[in-house]
Amino acid sequence: MHKKAYLTHPLRDGAVQCRVCEHFCAIHPGEIGRCGVRRNEDGTLYLTVYGEAVALNLDPVEKKPLFHFLPGGQILSVGTYGCNFRCPFCQNWSISQQGDQPGYQGHTAMPEMLVETCQRYGAEMIAYTYNEPTVFFEYTYDTAQLAHERGIRNVYVSNGYMSEEMLEMLVPFLDGINVDLKGFTEAFYRDQCQARLEPVKRNIRTIAQETDVEIEVTTLLIPGLNDSEEELRAMASWLAEVDHEMPWHISAFHPDYQMRDRPPTPPASLARAYELGKEAGLDYVYVGNVTDVDRSSTFCPECGELLIRRRWYSVDERWEERGVCPRCGHRVPGVWS
Ligand code: SF4
Repeated sequence: MHKKAYLTHPLRDGAVQCRVCEHFCAIHPGEIGRCGVRRNEDGTLYLTVYGEAVALNLDPVEKKPLFHFLPGGQILSVGTYGCNFRCPFCQNWSISQQGDQPGYQGHTAMPEMLVETCQRYGAEMIAYTYNEPTVFFEYTYDTAQLAHERGIRNVYVSNGYMSEEMLEMLVPFLDGINVDLKGFTEAFYRDQCQARLEPVKRNIRTIAQETDVEIEVTTLLIPGLNDSEEELRAMASWLAEVDHEMPWHISAFHPDYQMRDRPPTPPASLARAYELGKEAGLDYVYVGNVTDVDRSSTFCPECGELLIRRRWYSVDERWEERGVCPRCGHRVPGVWS
C-alpha cells in the first residue's frame, strides 16, 4: 500500500524533495525516486511498499551479522523492494534492484502483524534488512515504535546512506545496526554503488560516538576491487580511531548478479584482512561467509580467553555472566540482556 512519505520538502511545480537518504532526490509529479519505491502523486510523495513484505523470515541474529547482540537469538527479518545503491555484486539483487512495478507486490504485513509474529514465535527482535531499510523508512519507523511498546528490539542492516535527519528520527527506536562499509575510496562508492563514501563514514561515526545503538560494520572483500593492503589498512585504522571496540566483520565474496567474472575471496585474503584489523587496534574482528571457527569467535581482548565460540550460526557461550570475561573481568561492549 501507499503511505505518505516522512521527511519531504516541497519544491516548485509540484515537485517534492525526498530527504530520507543522501541522494535527496527531487521528484516531479508522476515520477519515482532512484530507489524505485518513492513516488510523487499529484505533488505528494508516497512510499509505495508500505506494509508489503517480499521477504519475511526468522533468522539467527548472527546471520545479520550482529555478534554482540543477544547471541543465539531469533530475529524476525523483513524486507521489501528497492535500493538507493546500484552495487553490481549485490547478493539480494532480485529484490533490491526491483522497483515498484506492476506484478511486483509483496505480501501484506502491516506493522501490527510483524510485531504479533515476533510475539507468536518468541522472537525478541526485528531486523529491517535484505534490501536497504532507509528506502522503506516509514514502514520501519512505524513498526519500530510499536515494537518498542511491546519490548521488542529493532535492528537495521544498512548501507549507512541515510540522511542526518532520518537518522536522528530513527535512533530513539533503534537498538542495533550493521552498516556496510563497502570500500574505502570515493572512487569505489561512485563507480560501484553510484553513491558517496563520506556520508557513510559520517553516519558510522555518529552512531558509534553519539548514540547507545550497538553498531557493527561489515566489509565484503572483493578480489581486486577493495582488498588491497593499503585500502584495508586505511579502513581498519579509521574504524579503530572511531571506536576500537566496534566489531568489524570481513565477509567472503561469491560471484553474483552482475559480477560473476571475479573469483570467490580466497581464505588467505580474509586471514590477511583479519590481521590488518587486529594490527590497527580493533578488539573484535570477525571473518564471515566461510567456515573459520577461530576468526569468527569472540576472544577477550585483555587476556585472550575464548568467550563465544561460533561456527556459522551455531553459538557456544563460555561466560557465566554475559559481557564479562570469566578470567579477567574485562567488559565486552554489546547488548547482552
Ligand atoms: S530514499 Fe529514494 S527517493 Fe528518497 S532520496 Fe533516497 S533514493 Fe531518492
